[in-house]
Amino acid sequence: MRKYFFPLVILVALAAAGGYLYYTRGRDSARMAQVYNWFQDQSSRPDLMMTSGAKCGDAPFIFPTNGLIGFIWDDSFRPGHRHSGLDIFAGTEIGVTPIVAAYPGYLTRQADWKSTVIIRVPEDPLQTGRQIWVYYTHMADPQGNSFVSPAFPMGTSEVYVEAGTFLGYQGNYSGDPNAPVGIHLHISIVEDDGFGNFKNELDINNTYDPTPYFGLPLNANINSDAIPYWGSYGVNQLADCAAGNQRKNMDLKNKVVLITGAGKGAGRTLALALAQRGARVAVNDISPINVEEAAAEIIANGGEAKAYVEDIAKKVGVQYLVKGVEDDFGAIDILINHASVEPHTPLLKMDEWDWHRTLDVNLTGVFLTVQSVGRMMREQGHGAIINIVAGAGEGSIKDAGAYLSSKAGAAMLSRQADVELSPHGVRVYAVENSADVVKDVLSILEAQ
Ligand SMILES: [Zn+2]
Repeated sequence: MRKYFFPLVILVALAAAGGYLYYTRGRDSARMAQVYNWFQDQSSRPDLMMTSGAKCGDAPFIFPTNGLIGFIWDDSFRPGHRHSGLDIFAGTEIGVTPIVAAYPGYLTRQADWKSTVIIRVPEDPLQTGRQIWVYYTHMADPQGNSFVSPAFPMGTSEVYVEAGTFLGYQGNYSGDPNAPVGIHLHISIVEDDGFGNFKNELDINNTYDPTPYFGLPLNANINSDAIPYWGSYGVNQLADCAAGNQRKNMDLKNKVVLITGAGKGAGRTLALALAQRGARVAVNDISPINVEEAAAEIIANGGEAKAYVEDIAKKVGVQYLVKGVEDDFGAIDILINHASVEPHTPLLKMDEWDWHRTLDVNLTGVFLTVQSVGRMMREQGHGAIINIVAGAGEGSIKDAGAYLSSKAGAAMLSRQADVELSPHGVRVYAVENSADVVKDVLSILEAQ
């Protein structure tokens, strides 16, 4: 009963708290639509859930709780309202999802604060000589029974806490027992009044844009189209985490990487670059000459590589390939799907065989390798898959109808595979084919 009840509770609670959300940025705000979709079916995008304690590259703040970033700085819930912080929704019941300090400082909880603490940060990590305050709230049930840690009773003043210190649990206290908010953490970064006190947090003019503190696009004036989160299937979302990614650096040393279409082009460049970083490289191509050359070049440079000549458009070819790599290397940590055919023929002249071959290599080949390697990675509980796609951006390429169609399919396949596999520790990315493709792939892998 309670489980089924939950999404409804959130919607009702939000509706009660804010009227319905007021769309200052128009009813077509893509980000708001995604948030409401998530409220109605949280299982639809498990990849959007942020992890407590995680950090984006060299951004100063760690993420303070588990959940989805539902509302950001300067969102508006009703005419005239401007949201002063960010709201992170756990998707659980009240009183179960922990909140930790995002940054060290001196914690105060005033004598009448049922659901709130504030932490004074004497030295703003982004501006020397400036004192700021970090405000955390809604840590109580609708009646005001507190979920704040017993370590910080009401009246607590200036207690030093480290980043990661447990502060309390997400709740839904609004001050009005009959109109609780949705279950979330509201966190904001508040100005000092110049006399050592914090300003009124409710006024956005007294707060700072949290974007640079978390390394995420948390300003509604700039981000209207995507829920901010770390890790994703695309390069655009990767930019969300401007300075990299919160996940621990993947040391590429001794990682087993399988690259399809590694005989030439970017596939071969990637194989060499990964081998230089200490990866053990399994190179695949349908043409033996090029791929054996690529392996020999890596070995000549002191790296480890082996060539596998198989057609990844065929299930039996993929089975031999994956079995061979597993026998020779013991596992596959990273799969890069670079194999591709690109006939340059107008659609009206295109031969049916060319069309099929393009789809077989560029789309079915990705499906077969993702399925086969994905099963192995799910068992391992970790892995990264990168599919080189095209056509996600604007524009067309002359006479590339079959190529672009197949690559757009591979982009969607990547997204779906990521949703299925990310709960098992396996991430699937689509990287747009471009002059920068090698750099883009390496930056994803190095940020893993
Ligand atoms: Zn809020």
